[in-house]
Amino acid sequence: MARCANCKKQPADQKTAVRIVEKGSRHTRELPYCSERCKQAIHFFVRSHNQELPRLKNMLMVWALIFLGTLLVQFISGNPLLIDIVIPALVAFVGLVLIIYPSGLMDLKYYERLGIKWFSLYVRITGLILVGVAATTMLPAY
Ligand SMILES: [Zn+2]
Repeated sequence: MARCANCKKQPADQKTAVRIVEKGSRHTRELPYCSERCKQAIHFFVRSHNQELPRLKNMLMVWALIFLGTLLVQFISGNPLLIDIVIPALVAFVGLVLIIYPSGLMDLKYYERLGIKWFSLYVRITGLILVGVAATTMLPAY
């Protein structure tokens, strides 16, 4: 029997249909769930996923532009302040994005493999670690 797409803990004999964005268009998928609570969580995830996906794409473009711009200015001016401040700030930004938008990051299959609940949790923890690492790098070195 299939396991619940949200928690992965319980065998799931019921399926709920969702309309999820995959590869640029909406597809109907049937996801197994174990309880009413997990069903709600799956639908909440799909709504967030569909909303976050385009936002994340835009953010990624802006992020890449700032990153490349910083490297270019650094290369031309040789000012180490830029790399010391802008790069940790960009890392912290990625961390924050992961904490705020954990649902739009990857295709549904990755969330399904670990369970939507757990995969989103791991994404948020990764975000926290990135923010932590960036904060430590920005502190003075003494
Ligand atoms: Zn469940």
